Amino acid sequence: MHVWNHCHACGVQPIVGRRFECLSCPAGPDNDLCEACFRAFERGQVEHPAPGGYAQHAGRHEHVFRAREGVSSDRCQQWLAPPLATASAPAVPDRFVVRPEFRVGRDSFFGAYGCVVAAEDGGQALLLTALHVMDELIKRVGLDCSVHNHAYSGEELPGLVSEVGLYDVFAENWMPAELGVAPAMLTLPEARLGEEEPLSDRDLAAFRVSAAARVVAGRLASATPRPGDPVWLAARRPGTSLRTSEAVVVEATERSFIFRFADPQEGAPYTSGAPLIDRDGAVVAINVGAGRFAGQRFGHGNHVGSIRLHLERGAAASLPSDRSGLA
Ligand SMILES: [Zn+2]
Ligand SMILES: [Zn+2]
Repeated sequence: MHVWNHCHACGVQPIVGRRFECLSCPAGPDNDLCEACFRAFERGQVEHPAPGGYAQHAGRHEHVFRAREGVSSDRCQQWLAPPLATASAPAVPDRFVVRPEFRVGRDSFFGAYGCVVAAEDGGQALLLTALHVMDELIKRVGLDCSVHNHAYSGEELPGLVSEVGLYDVFAENWMPAELGVAPAMLTLPEARLGEEEPLSDRDLAAFRVSAAARVVAGRLASATPRPGDPVWLAARRPGTSLRTSEAVVVEATERSFIFRFADPQEGAPYTSGAPLIDRDGAVVAINVGAGRFAGQRFGHGNHVGSIRLHLERGAAASLPSDRSGLA
């Protein structure tokens, strides 16, 4: 089973049996096929990238697939156990959850989501998002930021990104609602792509936000929630004006953070990089992936304990020559 992947052709989730992942398309919900659809694709009977999907615009001509084996469903049974907690949703302020636009020279690439938090080192606020949100850009510039590339130092990508435009994701019309920029990407030496889901502790990107940006900084929670604790995904809910989707934490380890949504039907696609918040509105994780199992909907993210470790190691790595943009 592949809980965290759906087939973009027939829509099945989880994918059962072998999964065919396109390595050429940007990481996201549209780059997997089930075995039956992959065979149909080989016969020219299935379209890939998904028609109208995100990857279709990435301008790739050759699509290289890799077959992946799934995991046993026993691994997921425990995620059904914790009951939903009863708690009322925290308010999500305007200009805290943002849509990032990554700019490299004259090119720019929109990401799904990010959020702004106060920096604990006293510097300017930070924009946090998942690293895979930048995958279209990463593939375009030809970098390999994956766990397989041991030569990647974490400095290459910050060296290329000129700035990130920030847009108010909850604005009626977000495109013209630019709030300012985050001019400096932080070097996070351990941040990488390509970890097998639901491990998401290396999927992180952080930027120093300009003092002039009209954003509202949230704060990082003091500790990672435990199984049974309520959390909310803060993102647009299609067709509504709601800003949160309720969930309950079902697994929290050093390397994983998994939650089950209260409503198994309601979907919030393309929400990578959006914050998970606790009942006080503090950020407990950055959303990384979405899954389905036993009729329930799940998500997994990079939790606050892991985020703090990345930021501390990044600060230590940048001490000799200050590249962090603190000035
Ligand atoms: Zn399929
Ligand atoms: Zn592809």
